[in-house]
Amino acid sequence: MVNYGKIWFNGEIRDESECTVSVASHALHYGTSVFEGIRGYKTPQGTAIFRLTDHLERMYFSASIYRMPVPYDLETLHQACRDTVRINELESAYIRPIVLRGNCGIGVIPKDMNMVDTAIITTAWGAYLGEDGLKNGIKACITSWNRLAPNTMPPGSKAGGNYLSSLLIGLEARERGCIEGIGLGVDGLLSEGAGENIFIVEKERIVTPPVSSSILAGITRDTVTTLAKERGLEVVEQSIAREQMYAADEIFMTGTAAEVTPVSQLDHIVIGNGGCGPVTKQLQNDFFGLFNGSTKDRWGWLEYV
Ligand code: PMP
Repeated sequence: MVNYGKIWFNGEIRDESECTVSVASHALHYGTSVFEGIRGYKTPQGTAIFRLTDHLERMYFSASIYRMPVPYDLETLHQACRDTVRINELESAYIRPIVLRGNCGIGVIPKDMNMVDTAIITTAWGAYLGEDGLKNGIKACITSWNRLAPNTMPPGSKAGGNYLSSLLIGLEARERGCIEGIGLGVDGLLSEGAGENIFIVEKERIVTPPVSSSILAGITRDTVTTLAKERGLEVVEQSIAREQMYAADEIFMTGTAAEVTPVSQLDHIVIGNGGCGPVTKQLQNDFFGLFNGSTKDRWGWLEYV
């Protein structure tokens, strides 16, 4: 069991052992939780939580899809995230706010729509796909599992239940000797990774699937798109065919956990130079530059604890 120190739970900071939910929680039976994954970085000005407001706004959106009323307003959760990082004395952190349906009756339709629990868990966390992966690229594969069809469970709502799909994709990839798995949509076109958005670089253009390709509209995806355009690079949202990926000059993944990770091999086919391509490297530098001060934060993305 991992100990997460102090957790913000339903309005109070408590020891992890005091933060309990019922085994009859609706979220356990039916996957009805919505959550976020957010990083706090050590910067020259102190610890900053990256795009905290944008992440929390996405969580409210995710909750609204499932008619789940979040009992705390944005200011309260914003403060609570900052407090939890500070109390756990984390200089850099992974922050996991979660809102879940509690014990509101065993049926699928909750008897009490307002029975929800809210928690904020924090931890220290390094490179999700490994330091070596960040530097030299990872082996990835297209799995036999597709991503969610858009008219089944909405991929744009970051709900707990969606991660059954991510688990199958991630497990299959690891069973096949890869670090991460990528899912196609039910139309056979590229969707996203188990927990990452995908970009390809082809002939001076950067291409990523649109939100209609069964993806979560990633905040890192938006960050990298903004940074690339800032450099004068062309970024387009377009459907991507599987073979386009094999022929790409570069492929990289983005996500709060994965940050900007190059894909060096896809389905055992070497991509581009077989390492971190020059465009990916540039975008990585621009991204990490936000935290070491070499990229100016013109967007107010750094929210200090
Ligand atoms: N897609 C999925 C399925 C994810 O879980 C994540 C991680 N939250 C992403 C994409 C990337 O989103 P973000 O950049 O906002 O972390």
